[in-house]
Amino acid sequence: MQIVCLDMEGVLVPEIWIAFAERTGIPELRRTTRDEPDYDKLMKYRLNILREHKLGLPDIQKVIAGMGPMEGCVEFLDSLRREYQVVILSDTFYEFAKPLMEQMNQPTLFCHRLEADADGMLVNYHLRMPDQKRHAVEAFKSLNFKVIAAGDSYNDTAMLGAAHAGILMHPPENVVREFPQYPVVRDYASLRAEIDKAAARIKDWN
Ligand SMILES: [Mg+2]
Repeated sequence: MQIVCLDMEGVLVPEIWIAFAERTGIPELRRTTRDEPDYDKLMKYRLNILREHKLGLPDIQKVIAGMGPMEGCVEFLDSLRREYQVVILSDTFYEFAKPLMEQMNQPTLFCHRLEADADGMLVNYHLRMPDQKRHAVEAFKSLNFKVIAAGDSYNDTAMLGAAHAGILMHPPENVVREFPQYPVVRDYASLRAEIDKAAARIKDWN
């Protein structure tokens, strides 16, 4: 039995914070871990900016709903889920992903949580556990599943390394250079072809 683990942002939907910054016209929200490597500081900074702009969870979800998944994503996922068990492993938050999941026919998603106060203002975030993508893949393997994983960036490479087969989708050039062991795809038809190829290859392993 095979499980396909997919990263979400950059693979199925746009980068949420960047698209959100563009749609709301709040450039400070474009700040990423490249500008602020301390994730906790970065998240507190983001939550403060949202509060300053009086953007509560319902406003944020409305903006995210307007982003939508990438072109061809829904058809790709629907078709993939007919042949494989599919789990999306993401470092986003359920509250942000919800409007996108509705448009993607509610696939299984493992991610993190945000905490809102009674007025809907975000006050904190809660990581379910650190390095959850890799832990999830290792847990599936311990349940005797064969795992194929696909992602686009550095935060996926531990998951790709832990899986029986890893695939890079839409990766930046530096990731392609640093991880030459993974096939690189840039559209859903090629991603599906690589998944099927990997599935055929690992099928008989014990
Ligand atoms: Mg990503």
